[in-house]
Amino acid sequence: LSLFSTLPPIPADEPFSVNGAYLSDTHPQKVNLGIGVYRTSTGNPWPLNVVEEAESRIYDARNKDRHEYLSIQGDREFLNLASDLVFGFDSTTSPQIRDRVTSVQTVSGTGANRLGAELLSRHIRPKTVWIPNPTWANHHTIWDLAGVPEKSYPYYDAQKKKFNYIGTMESLSKAQKNDVVILHACAHNPTGADPTPTQWESIARLCAERGLIPFFDLAYQGFASGDAAQDAWAIRHFFGLELEFCVAQSFSKNFGLYGQRVGALHVVSFPSLDKNTAAGGVGGDILANLCHLVRGEYSMAPRGGAEIVRTVLGDAELRGRWYEDLGVMSTRIQDMRRALYGELVRLGTPGSWEHVLDQVCSALILRDIVS
Ligand code: PLP
Repeated sequence: LSLFSTLPPIPADEPFSVNGAYLSDTHPQKVNLGIGVYRTSTGNPWPLNVVEEAESRIYDARNKDRHEYLSIQGDREFLNLASDLVFGFDSTTSPQIRDRVTSVQTVSGTGANRLGAELLSRHIRPKTVWIPNPTWANHHTIWDLAGVPEKSYPYYDAQKKKFNYIGTMESLSKAQKNDVVILHACAHNPTGADPTPTQWESIARLCAERGLIPFFDLAYQGFASGDAAQDAWAIRHFFGLELEFCVAQSFSKNFGLYGQRVGALHVVSFPSLDKNTAAGGVGGDILANLCHLVRGEYSMAPRGGAEIVRTVLGDAELRGRWYEDLGVMSTRIQDMRRALYGELVRLGTPGSWEHVLDQVCSALILRDIVS
């Protein structure tokens, strides 16, 4: 008998298995409800115009450094630009404010979720992680692997097809100090239903009062509304309240860099930490611990995709062109929703379909219709 014959069975990961079923299906009108990726009107992937421009600027066979290792923390200029994008920092932001954020480049949003879970589970030892029901399925896997027991909070009111504010507040008011609360910063996956700014304010107050650790998953900044600042509103609000929390940032959707695995984990502390405490004076304790975890896992994140993001965000003209590309994607998604809504109404489909217009980026509506 093989040594490995006792391995436990692992359930298939839903989006990836749906994708496999889609690929092997021969029906001419098949629709892919698996992995959430942007497609053009012809059903093809879209490398963003600005990404193609950045690639043409970066690639230079004479640059002998182009395949060199990064540092364990990652590409620092990329990280500064990534945290500016999340927190809205600019040249007027004081070093004290900036120093509240410690950032490490990660293997995309998934890697950022994983690294943050690992840091918190080892060193803060939360009793519970509160995960919205429903959620991106990988949250369960990530926190299970990190060994933190999970409880769910009722995120979605399936009747009203809205964020379940009362249920969420009731559940979270039972959370204990240092419990982690997973929050989707915008475009909640899979429901597409987000809290209003006033509801975010109450969630932030509750986290502050009970000493909870918010953990923002930011997978759709700019992709949701077309406006990167609007999609980061909740995070910036929590930052302003001087809370301590994590942000897992992904560039998969908003740059169309899915397979390049570009992301960052930002750990927000208060007050701002002296970043020169660790041996070697390179960073504070948070940074040293994050780098230790990264080193033992995979040494450093890949460099190619982060170079593209750095090139775009670090150049005013290219950044403007990125906003245009975001506009193309978010407008098309909204137009598709309007078209779908119009058709459902025109066909007299039983039920009410207004939520198709209200929700952001989600595939859940399609699943509603198909079932
Ligand atoms: N978090 C959420 C809520 C997501 O929807 C996704 C992707 O679908 C991710 C994180 C992570 O994606 P990636 O690892 O490609 O950045």
